[in-house]
Amino acid sequence: MSARVKVRRRRRTKIIATLGPASSTVEVLTRLFLGGADVFRLNFSHGTHEDHAARIVLIRELERQFDRPIGILADVQGPKLRVGRFQGGRVQLQTGQQFQLDLNATPGNVRRVNLPHPEIIEAASIGATLLLDDGKLRLRVLHKRAGALETEVTVGGSLSDRKGVNVPDVVLPIPALTVKDREDLAFALDHGVDFIGLSFVQRPEDVAEAKDIAAGRAWIMTKVEKPQALDNLEAIIALSDAVMVARGDLGVELPPEEVPLAQKRIVRAARQAGKPVVVATQMLESMITAPAPTRAEASDVATAVFEGADAVMLSAETAAGQFPYEAVNMMDRIVARVELDPGWRAMIEASRPAPERSVADAIAAAARQVASTVGAAAICTFTDSGSTALRAARERPDAPVLSLTQSEATARRLAVVWGVHAIVSPDTRSMSETVARATKLAQQEGFAPPGSEVVVIAGVPFGQPGTTNALRVARVK
Ligand code: PEP
Repeated sequence: MSARVKVRRRRRTKIIATLGPASSTVEVLTRLFLGGADVFRLNFSHGTHEDHAARIVLIRELERQFDRPIGILADVQGPKLRVGRFQGGRVQLQTGQQFQLDLNATPGNVRRVNLPHPEIIEAASIGATLLLDDGKLRLRVLHKRAGALETEVTVGGSLSDRKGVNVPDVVLPIPALTVKDREDLAFALDHGVDFIGLSFVQRPEDVAEAKDIAAGRAWIMTKVEKPQALDNLEAIIALSDAVMVARGDLGVELPPEEVPLAQKRIVRAARQAGKPVVVATQMLESMITAPAPTRAEASDVATAVFEGADAVMLSAETAAGQFPYEAVNMMDRIVARVELDPGWRAMIEASRPAPERSVADAIAAAARQVASTVGAAAICTFTDSGSTALRAARERPDAPVLSLTQSEATARRLAVVWGVHAIVSPDTRSMSETVARATKLAQQEGFAPPGSEVVVIAGVPFGQPGTTNALRVARVK
């Protein structure tokens, strides 16, 4: 593939593709990137550190080859709570029968099974619901004894060895990071990933702990997957660098009819806070085994785009499916088509959060307005940490946001942000140099033809972070 191919996305909503056995060769990765993937996700629930290290090397090679920053998301597994084993490997539980969960490690039967998590037994109150095997079976706690929960089976079914347990009603005194997660996190940070996907977040403190460990080396992307996190949503988003609507796990603990509402609420709250938000899981699920999606799946992707999410994500479709390239390509087509629709623009305008009372937000809002009035080809921001670009993107402007940054790490992180095209470029020292650089790069990158206008926002005096306070309109020569 020629390195001279210029990769320029025209859509605003970004695409994340999960890598796995179906997508780990340089050929498939290149096709996924050219087909539309802006960020690649490494799922630490599967694969070895060697597998992930090899993928990181390939992604960074791709980045060099096409001269475009690419984001890497390392998604750490989080605690997995499971029942123990059964004498025959499986039992059939009848609705209405009693069933005990206990700390006894001997194999279970139709009356009881081991639950090797004393913290669940401790925290579950009488009447609490326990979900087994991704919510297929339901139990209600009747009594508590030392080291055991006596329950009633409210939805029965077949239960086999080591199936998952969820406790939606209870905040569990379990940290979001296990020993394995801490090792994975250290590995991912050492290998220069851009985002850490944080599972099992229940409280703001869970995010704070991961942020302490990351210490600015990667953005923390909180996966909202537990009802407890929804109870603390605004505080959790405030501490997070980005958010994921993790509908897979969310859909285990919430009834299906609640999931779309939770998605809308999370997207709205993240947009209000100006934090990137990703809608994830089962978006094109049927494409794991089929070359085209269902109509409902196409509609699901479109809904996330209408909601103004920063990115949409593919999981097994690209990690383990038979049609990884077709899935990315289909997502790209759906997003691009929706963004051509005047109804989409109208919805984005209608859902724009008001600027916060800060100079930076006033400038970002003004840039969007000026760009719209003069029909500017681009809004150019200069950003160190990415914060100015995030505030500009929060406005969801009509014009693309060209974000110039001297930091390669920032450019990669901005790969997940709505409407942002990041370019690594050295710092400027004066307004005239800034305007000259912005107009030249806007033209070189193919966004602004000669004679068009761009809106430039910057911080004066130069070299001081957090001072976005100036706006210029400049013509491209
Ligand atoms: C999810 O639950 O939707 C999710 C993205 O997480 P995982 O793939 O780890 O289940």
